[in-house]
Amino acid sequence: MNIEILGKTFGPVETNCFIAIDIDTRDCLVFDAPLGCESWVRETCKELRLNLRALMLTHSHWDHTADAATFSDIPIFIDEPDNYRLVEPMKYTGWPLPFTIEPVTNARFIGEEKSMQVGSFVIEVLRTPGHTEGGVCFQLGENVIVGDTIFKGSVGRTDLPGGDYQTLMQSIKLLVSTYAPATKLYPGHGPNTTVEREQKANPFVREALL
Ligand SMILES: [Zn+2]
Repeated sequence: MNIEILGKTFGPVETNCFIAIDIDTRDCLVFDAPLGCESWVRETCKELRLNLRALMLTHSHWDHTADAATFSDIPIFIDEPDNYRLVEPMKYTGWPLPFTIEPVTNARFIGEEKSMQVGSFVIEVLRTPGHTEGGVCFQLGENVIVGDTIFKGSVGRTDLPGGDYQTLMQSIKLLVSTYAPATKLYPGHGPNTTVEREQKANPFVREALL
C-alpha cells in the first residue's frame, strides 16, 4: 500500500481528523470525526477525486465523534465497548455542550479481527484500552492512528468515566512493543510523533516499560 495521510484540527478542544489515501486506488478512510470536519473531508474527496470508504473511530469521546452522524452514507467502525457513547452522545459529554451531537445507532463493530479489509486498505487493529474502554489504534503500513492513547510527550487522560491508568499503561507497553521504532504515530491531539521519539522522551512510556 502506498499511503498518504492528511490531517486537520477541528472543534473546541482541537481534535485531529485524518484522511488516509491509498495513492494507487484513490480509496480513502476518515479517522475520527471532530466537530466541523465533514465539509473538509467531503471537499478533499471531491478535489482529489477520492472514494471515501469508511469512518474509523479511535474511541467515542464527543470531541472525536461530533460529526460522525454526518457520515451515515459510509460504514462507521468502532470497538464495541465504546459504542454506548456513540448511541447516546449527549448523555456522556462530561459537561454541557453549546451544540447537539446526533447519535449513531448503526456503527459496525471491529470485532475480534486483528486485520480488517476496508475498501483497498488492510488495517491492522491494536486494542489499547485505558483512555476509554474500547480505544483502538489503527495501523496502515508504517502509520498508526492512535487516538488519545498516546501523545507527543504524554498519554491520554484516565480520570474520565471509563478511563483506567493501569490499563492505559499496559496499552502503552503493548503499543511500543508492537510497532517498529520508525513507525509514525498520529495522535488525536497535538503533533505527530514516532515510536522511537516517545521511547526516548515520553516519561509515561518509560514508566510503562519499568
Ligand atoms: Zn478522548
